[in-house]
Amino acid sequence: MISNEVLPVQYQFAGKIIGCFFDADFSLVKNMLQKDATVFITDENIYAAHSEKFSGWKTIVIKAGEPFKNQQTVDFVISQLIDLHADRQTFIVGVGGGVVTDVAGFVASVYMRGLKFAFVPTSILAMVDASIGGKNGVDVGVYKNIVGVINHPEFLLYDYSFLETLPDREWVNGFAEIIKHACIKDAEMFYFLEEHSLMKFQSSLTDTAAIIKRNVDIKNDVVSGDEHEAGERKLLNFGHTIGHAIENADHLSHGHAISIGMAVACRISEEVNNFSTEQTKRVTGLLTRYELPVVFTSDKQKTWEILQHDKKKSGSNMSFIVLDTIGKASIKSISLEHLHKIFNDI
Ligand code: ADP
Ligand code: ZN
Repeated sequence: MISNEVLPVQYQFAGKIIGCFFDADFSLVKNMLQKDATVFITDENIYAAHSEKFSGWKTIVIKAGEPFKNQQTVDFVISQLIDLHADRQTFIVGVGGGVVTDVAGFVASVYMRGLKFAFVPTSILAMVDASIGGKNGVDVGVYKNIVGVINHPEFLLYDYSFLETLPDREWVNGFAEIIKHACIKDAEMFYFLEEHSLMKFQSSLTDTAAIIKRNVDIKNDVVSGDEHEAGERKLLNFGHTIGHAIENADHLSHGHAISIGMAVACRISEEVNNFSTEQTKRVTGLLTRYELPVVFTSDKQKTWEILQHDKKKSGSNMSFIVLDTIGKASIKSISLEHLHKIFNDI
């Protein structure tokens, strides 16, 4: 199946090897797969901007955006697959941001009890985060990713030309996860980002390609040893406990919400983990540099109520990701009472 034009970088998860084609052209997917046995799944924005790429191939187009990452979209895709006579030999390719890859991976995993699939991530967020690690699924109401599976694609293909049409706000969103990776795992990348800027990345696909590859390596490293989130993988939740609560309370974008979540998590790290105020300032400075918000402006009471329903709570304590220093994170069990007090003082 795999052509030898561009050799994939190989990553391994629970014994399965996944080829990752970096800096490849979308046409490679079409060279590798058979037209009559392949179905592309994408969203309306990507389809509108890149329709020529799908021309002549079976394509299912879903509505764009997180509100459509739900069971209704799954049902829609499944009915389209039935109309297209998709069978067990059909290969699914999700071409899009995190919503498309999550839906495509989930549908492929359940349709006829599972078809093979691959991803072509088209947003920064999907490239560095959503399409790696095998988590696929949908939201139910305010409950993010509450239904899903862990199942890996056969391969990932990165065609950076998709980024030419990615809206600015989605670049900002994606850089929130890149800064998260820097905070928890890679001080050197943190300093590098301090010297760079969003505009510089947007004007140099070479720099963007390099930073994406570095982030794919980080995410793969963290996930490969801990697929089911027993330990190390939890570090990826830095900024996300409070971030998800804000996202639900205020309907902010994921990147904006976790940016504020990271700023608050730094303050909590000061209180419980001797993280310094100077380092907090450095993190919030970097987030601001990448046009991300750092000030908590949500309703505290409402956010706290949502926080209390978080799955990371166990008894009267909550597992919380704190920074030890820039580039290194750990998991702390904090009593809800203490957390509430810190939270109220912020
Ligand atoms: P995520 O942030 O998880 O990637 P989405 O899948 O919702 O979330 O993608 C964010 C938005 O960006 C969506 O509106 C999607 O249609 C749009 N998008 C993603 N990739 C591209 C692209 N390459 N060109 C234009 N729009 C894109
Ligand atoms: Zn995230």
